[in-house]
Amino acid sequence: MPTIIDGKKTSAEIKNEIAARVKEIKAAGGKVPHLAAVLVGNDGASQTYVGAKVKACEFVGFESTLVKLEDNVSEEALLKTVEEINENPDIDGLIVQLPLPKHISVEKVTAKIKPEKDVDGFTPANVGRMALNWPTYVAATPYGIVELLKRYEIETSGKHCVVIGRSHIVGSPMSILMARNDYPGNSTVTLTHSRTKNLKEIVKTADILIVAIGKPEFVTADMVKEGAVVIDVGIHRIEDASKKNGFRLIGDVKFDEVSAKSSAITPVPGGVGPMTIASLLYNTLLSAERKVYP
Ligand code: NAD
Repeated sequence: MPTIIDGKKTSAEIKNEIAARVKEIKAAGGKVPHLAAVLVGNDGASQTYVGAKVKACEFVGFESTLVKLEDNVSEEALLKTVEEINENPDIDGLIVQLPLPKHISVEKVTAKIKPEKDVDGFTPANVGRMALNWPTYVAATPYGIVELLKRYEIETSGKHCVVIGRSHIVGSPMSILMARNDYPGNSTVTLTHSRTKNLKEIVKTADILIVAIGKPEFVTADMVKEGAVVIDVGIHRIEDASKKNGFRLIGDVKFDEVSAKSSAITPVPGGVGPMTIASLLYNTLLSAERKVYP
């Protein structure tokens, strides 16, 4: 039986650790961490995500500010809002919920966020620091994966780690993190993508397989080496009439058959997904305690 890498449980543990630290800070008369979230428009999914982030702040005892802007807000006005939060000494972390409306440049907005407050870890400065293995805010999904590998004491040194997908938010940073001279890290990394030839042969040699391809149940048992550690980042909603809400969630990995061959695996749901909010809280705490930018 493989180890099921439980992201729900781990995320709850991290939140409790952060809540305990906030209590200590309060008891010592220190400043309570404060996260600001900017939400543009009325996208249902974005509202849900931001709502969950604000609720998580309440849970751990952080202060939070939610700035809601209309769908048709100008780029200039959004940049001004970011600037104001950048300069507000009471706020430690700032996130701008993506996606943004088409008339607004994500690059311009991201570049405007002060790296010291960029708790999403999306600014060029913080991505650069990650690549250099300097103290930084690691982005939510890579942070979640790293933390799961650590807490489940997965050996990574000298292992062959294959990453499927090269997106800026998952695959590419994971390939950097797994190759760096640190733990987790010190793996020999192969980053695969849509132009990779012989994908199946490469994947079959993975001791650690990180899948962020965005294709439902793409990885099947015949592609996986016996005893591999499998991290499934994908999330897909598929119709399921047997469920009360009419759908269920599946990953990029065919869980039932792949889990039978793996030594450890993240389920979907309940694997990588629940870790993302914990990362945001953790980065905000790092910022409040001046751990990344002293
Ligand atoms: P993306 O669509 O940006 O990137 C997919 C990558 O897969 C690309 O780099 C592409 O080159 C590669 N690819 C496509 N076809 C391929 C093929 N045939 N062979 C090899 N590589 C191929 O995806 P993303 O943003 O990295 O997200 C991936 C999945 O993870 C999605 O299902 C997404 O919903 C999910 N996701 C989950 C979380 C979470 O918190 N659990 C966070 C982010 C993304």
